[in-house]
Amino acid sequence: MTELSTIPVQKFTIPQVVRHKETGELLITVSRYNANAHYGAGYRCSPIDTRYSTRGYSDDVLEAAPPRNPGPFDYKTEIVPRAQGALPWEFVEPAKLAQTLSDIAACAGWAAYSGIASVIKPGESRASWARLFLHTTQGGGYTGQAHALVWENSPFRKPTHLIDAVVQAAIQVVHDPKAPAGDLAAAVLAMEQSPHRDQEPAMPTAWLLSICKHEIVDSSTPQGRQRGWHPAHCLKCGINLSVDSSD
Ligand SMILES: [Zn+2]
Repeated sequence: MTELSTIPVQKFTIPQVVRHKETGELLITVSRYNANAHYGAGYRCSPIDTRYSTRGYSDDVLEAAPPRNPGPFDYKTEIVPRAQGALPWEFVEPAKLAQTLSDIAACAGWAAYSGIASVIKPGESRASWARLFLHTTQGGGYTGQAHALVWENSPFRKPTHLIDAVVQAAIQVVHDPKAPAGDLAAAVLAMEQSPHRDQEPAMPTAWLLSICKHEIVDSSTPQGRQRGWHPAHCLKCGINLSVDSSD
């Protein structure tokens, strides 16, 4: 077994993608932990799907991953670890809720991520629950962008004790002819005057997540554009963003 001191662990900066020497498979790890009195050194991978993580692998069967191939982002090693909160999204920007909902509802090309995802909003240290919609190219590859809808906890709650008071007073008035109708009127008035009366639960917030800020090179020709062919690719990640509108 290789001595720990000879392993170039520093190269596997956190967060990291490493390669299994034997199979060539890319694996994700979140952080490396040191040996203590009870356990050997290893990698901490939660909450990543452990099938794709370094959990259970020893240092000497892993090596630094090669630079990524230009092109669409890999679902397993580049999208899922970010959706699950094990790797950060390179860019998290606020977006307009209406526009985001419109994109998701009306446009092809935004594929729903099947699980519950988490997003760390700018300026926050804790992740929020989110639903993700992954952007795809016309060819079906992932562009590394995603719409995120983040559930926002509402600070405003209906004053349930007032609702209870109204219901109770209404029941009494209906079932007991001698009950003072003033109780119901008072309960309704109290509810009307509540500062919470018009407040509604918070709407979700919308965010645009990106791994790459694409710098698009459009190599279309006037002739090609006329028949709807727009070949294009990103200078940074190499993804093919060509569009054939066939018109
Ligand atoms: Zn790009």
